[in-house]
Amino acid sequence: MTKHYDIIVIGAGPAGMSASRTAAAQGARVLVLDEQSSPGGQIYRAIEKPHNQRRRELGSSYQDGVPLVHGFRQSELDYVNAASVWQLSADLEVGYSRDGIAQLVRADRIIVATGAQERPVPIPGWTKRGVMTVGAAQILLKESSVVASDAVFAGSGPLLYLAVHQYLELGVPVKAVLDLTPAKNYLGALPALFGARADFAKILEGWQWKRAIGAAGIPLLTGVDAVRISGEKSVESVDYRRRGEWQAITCDTAFLHLGVVPNINISMAAGCDCHWSHNQACWTVTVDDWFNSSVAGVSVAGDGVSIGGAAAAEAQGGIAALGALHALGRIDASERDRLAAAYRIRLRKEMGIRHFLDLLFRPADRLRVPREADTVVCRCEEVTAGQIRETLDLGCCGPNQLKSFSRTGMGPCQGRFCGHTVSELIGEASGLPISEVGYFRLRSPIKPLPLKELADLAHSSKE
Ligand SMILES: Cc1cc2nc3c(=O)[nH]c(=O)nc-3n(C[C@H](O)[C@H](O)[C@H](O)COP(=O)(O)OP(=O)(O)OC[C@H]3O[C@@H](n4cnc5c(N)ncnc54)[C@H](O)[C@@H]3O)c2cc1C
Repeated sequence: MTKHYDIIVIGAGPAGMSASRTAAAQGARVLVLDEQSSPGGQIYRAIEKPHNQRRRELGSSYQDGVPLVHGFRQSELDYVNAASVWQLSADLEVGYSRDGIAQLVRADRIIVATGAQERPVPIPGWTKRGVMTVGAAQILLKESSVVASDAVFAGSGPLLYLAVHQYLELGVPVKAVLDLTPAKNYLGALPALFGARADFAKILEGWQWKRAIGAAGIPLLTGVDAVRISGEKSVESVDYRRRGEWQAITCDTAFLHLGVVPNINISMAAGCDCHWSHNQACWTVTVDDWFNSSVAGVSVAGDGVSIGGAAAAEAQGGIAALGALHALGRIDASERDRLAAAYRIRLRKEMGIRHFLDLLFRPADRLRVPREADTVVCRCEEVTAGQIRETLDLGCCGPNQLKSFSRTGMGPCQGRFCGHTVSELIGEASGLPISEVGYFRLRSPIKPLPLKELADLAHSSKE
């Protein structure tokens, strides 16, 4: 028989841990599913591993996760690690796989807290061996203490500088940092600086990271407006354009980063309304004040809604859980509002800096929408920007038709690596706003699932 819970939380990052702790504290029966081997999400990844305990080099914000994860472990809830969720249906049934076995579970409420993923960086050569994202560099570091010496870091955003700083603190040599933040963004973001004043410490921290890079003698090149990876099959150099001139830096590892975007696959497949955020240049989930989505019984919280950072995600998770508890009749409205007050204050404070960061680090159009015809957009099916433009010229009019014409978005990642680029390429070709262009129609399973697992599932449900 399918197991039934009051609340199922998908994701054990800051938002999911906060949501599940809040719900469990009120006596709700809670199940948390997460595909990582331990709780923490992206920022606090592998924080329980001995090699990460008190690891000063990862920064103070990493250690903020210790009490959160500890509190999560102490809570009365069911937590399943290494559980990859491939389905959330509108009738609140969740399908997940663990150790090659698929299972179905149900709940009266679902909280989706699937966080962020890195924005694709579709530049020429980004699929060559030796090119990774900055997030991947962090995953290797946090999970396995693996680093790459003399890598070139290229991109924009706080995570770029944080990762380089972590490398410096660990004494790992870095070849160069190429800052792809468009020069015009500095002026454009200036008026939003006032709104970010309460978070001056974060701005100062970012400035200190930059200063440390300079002090370590690492070339930090700002004003870079184009970049490409050269090499036969692997990276041999990172070529960049600055003040109209192309230069090359030889290296065998390049880490790219253009910020993070919400991981919307589960929410979209469940039918939650989404909209295009111009400032964040990505799809975001439409939610109300309690993080209820447009699908009855489904809330979405944290970076999986729109990008706000770890502390904002934690506050959102708490608010979403209180909203769900009220909807289940476990707490009345005044208790819900009372408990949510502290989360709301924290959320307001955290969101103060967001507008400034969004304007400052909005990636340049040419980096999000490749100009060069032979740049790969869909990595799984190896479809290039030129092939997509040709298909659009034939009269193909949307992401779903493009799928059938060219297989773009039909590979194992189900559009996670190309979905945003495809929407923007179609917007550019058609002149339509991205919100009208739309996104791939996502269906379960949103992650590859062996047929055998599905067949076994059907068999076990008959027993
Ligand atoms: C690669 C990467 C590295 C980052 N590093 C930092 C950092 O060092 N410092 C920083 O301040 N911010 C970092 N960020 C941003 C940071 O992730 C967020 O601000 C914060 O973690 C958001 O919390 P969250 O709970 O919303 O999501 P996350 O922390 O992302 O947690 C989401 C969880 O959902 C799980 N999940 C997703 N999909 C599924 C599925 N289908 N089935 C099961 N589980 C699923 C994931 O495994 C993850 O554990 C990083 C982001 C990324 C993408």
